[in-house]
Amino acid sequence: MNVKEQYAAVAADVVATCKRVGRAPEEVTVVAVSKTVGPDEVADAIAGGARNFGENRPDQLMLKADLFTDSTWHFIGNIQSRRIRDIVGRAALIHSLFEERHARKIDEIAREHGIVQDVLLEVNVSGEESKSGLAPADVRAMLEACSELPNLRVCGLMTMAPLGDMETARASFSGLRELRDELQADYPDLTELSMGMTDDWPIAIEEGATIVRIGRAIFQ
Ligand SMILES: *Cc1c(COP(=O)(O)O)cnc(C)c1O
Repeated sequence: MNVKEQYAAVAADVVATCKRVGRAPEEVTVVAVSKTVGPDEVADAIAGGARNFGENRPDQLMLKADLFTDSTWHFIGNIQSRRIRDIVGRAALIHSLFEERHARKIDEIAREHGIVQDVLLEVNVSGEESKSGLAPADVRAMLEACSELPNLRVCGLMTMAPLGDMETARASFSGLRELRDELQADYPDLTELSMGMTDDWPIAIEEGATIVRIGRAIFQ
């Protein structure tokens, strides 16, 4: 299969999985993670129906988001202070915020642009040393800090499952959902759950994902 067919197949699988678990397919957005490919493959995915794309490097986000302005771009990578200016506004949603100083800078640049930047807080649910993100116990304090920033809106939470078996992945996805549910009483904007990649997205949808980030299944 080519990229166009692979995207269409993944999208159909996502719809089928939603139906199997009793969820409305419109509740789940597929972000095609195009970080390993160039503009030609992005165009192929668009031909297959892709509307949302994810990048983890500011340079690639700038290149592709500026070429494909009708698509919705997501920043899913490590945030560096000096590159925040390149991300704000270009990315409709930043998935990977976990530092307060970055939140303040995003807010400041969004204010210059006259926009409100949507973000997700990255949470290290599994507690693995090698993973970035907030400890679950620190998410509430971060939400409180972010609530003081008028040009930043926290729309939900994001996590990466640890490597390992599917039950390990499920535990971190259900952990993220429970955390979201618990915080939603005080933070009603917290609706999104960005979780699930090529190897584990069906489990993420079973556990309540509203955004799945899929790279290899589409682009390899
Ligand atoms: C690369 C990447 C993905 C996609 O991973 P695949 O296994 O290729 O589907 C999802 N999320 C993040 C944060 C990534 O860096």
